[in-house]
Amino acid sequence: MSDYQSLLTAIAPSVGGREITDPATGAVIGRAPEHTAADLDAAVDRAAAAQPGWAALGHAERTRLLLEAADRVDANAEALAQLLTREQGKPLNGPNARFEVGGVTAWLRTAATTELTPETVIDDGQTRATLTYRPIGVVGAIGPWNWPMMISIWQIGPALRMGNTVVAKPSEYTPLSVLALAHVLNEVLPADVLQIVSGGRDVGERLSEHPDVGKLMFTGSTATGKAIIRSSSDSVKRLTLELGGNDAGIVLDDADPRALAEDLFWGAFINTGQTCAALKRLYVPEALYDDVVDALAAVAEKMPMGVGTDEQNVLGPLQNRAQYDIVAGLVEEARASGARIVVGGNPNPDAPGNFYPTTLVADIDNANPLVQEEQFGPALPIVKYRDLDEAIAWANGVDVGLGGSVWSSDLDRAREVAALIQSGTVWINAHGTIHPAVPFGGVKQSGYGLEFGVEGLKALGVPQVING
Ligand code: NAD
Repeated sequence: MSDYQSLLTAIAPSVGGREITDPATGAVIGRAPEHTAADLDAAVDRAAAAQPGWAALGHAERTRLLLEAADRVDANAEALAQLLTREQGKPLNGPNARFEVGGVTAWLRTAATTELTPETVIDDGQTRATLTYRPIGVVGAIGPWNWPMMISIWQIGPALRMGNTVVAKPSEYTPLSVLALAHVLNEVLPADVLQIVSGGRDVGERLSEHPDVGKLMFTGSTATGKAIIRSSSDSVKRLTLELGGNDAGIVLDDADPRALAEDLFWGAFINTGQTCAALKRLYVPEALYDDVVDALAAVAEKMPMGVGTDEQNVLGPLQNRAQYDIVAGLVEEARASGARIVVGGNPNPDAPGNFYPTTLVADIDNANPLVQEEQFGPALPIVKYRDLDEAIAWANGVDVGLGGSVWSSDLDRAREVAALIQSGTVWINAHGTIHPAVPFGGVKQSGYGLEFGVEGLKALGVPQVING
């Protein structure tokens, strides 16, 4: 029995459960438990009972345990990556499954060791006020299917570090990855400090309305984020919402297309485009347009896509058929409007799995749905602009604002343009390169609240001012 199969056996339900299939082949890879809203209630009760003891351990002991848990992830890294590839579809190699498991330990270790010290706000002889952060209690975590292990640890790591206990509900598309990760973490953590409830939307809804859950960390679509705001309102729950994006990249007229092409490519196509803060529409000045399109096409054509367990592949299938249909529909609409398909665009309908080829779409109007909507897949529209103000207005002309990027040989000029982009992060000559100590979050309908670093720890605590 290979290692990932041992993990699958350890997390398999004793009876029943739901079949999970490999998006690259359609083969059944395992069975996930199907928990109910009643199971969720029981998990929250256990989490509430475990929380005072976990908080009482103190920061130093929690840090020690979380670092030990990160060591366990390292020890199981290959088995976790093998399972992630089979459930999510992303290849083992490239910035994919092994990279994601590496990200889990990097983020967990940073959450475990980042200091959040009490702040003396004022101490002038008359007034003395300090600001501290206490544990919230039980934290709920709801995640998506694109980076299931990494995003879970973004939610779980700082929550545990701050003395909360966690009940997490993974996406119904990728529950095994999160159950397996939690199984490994729980080799070290005390009982009931971290629990996974594997169910559908009803379980997520119950978690977001549950009166004994003090905070919800949510990563997923903007539509679900809005539903969660509504269902959490009766309990006035704290929320961190990392929602959808439609990140723009703007190439300035002094950029060197060939030098930037590979970074532009991965900015858009990391995880086969199924990434919240991926480059989803690219604006290029007329003078550089053909050069940028050609340089990107040359990179796109050499990147192998296929079954993720094949070591040579760096791009994989769409995780589910619904997402495949969204991508295929948007590309067909663009084609019908007269846009030019430079690379890709012709999936093989008889091939197994949800493979949609790497696709570049040029000569496309800014108003086209492939530009205006989040494709969340391997199809990048490249829009020509005539003056920079127009490109900035187009970049800002959507109701989401997660990330953005500016590509230029002149750093000062790029920073000036970056300051005009309405998004939570703007990268220069890169896109989507996140770091565990650098705050990350969206503006507009991409959500609110920051993750990572010190700001991320603050978001998992209740601020308390001691005045006197
Ligand atoms: P989704 O909103 O469909 O599902 C996310 C999770 O919410 C799932 O676990 C689902 O079961 C649960 N859910 C669904 N309805 C619910 C409800 N009414 N109440 C509570 N929970 C409910 O999102 P998805 O399709 O899994 O993920 C793709 C989306 O996530 C994209 O829009 C992407 O941009 C976004 N995303 C954002 C970030 C970020 O950091 N901002 C990161 C990754 C993905």
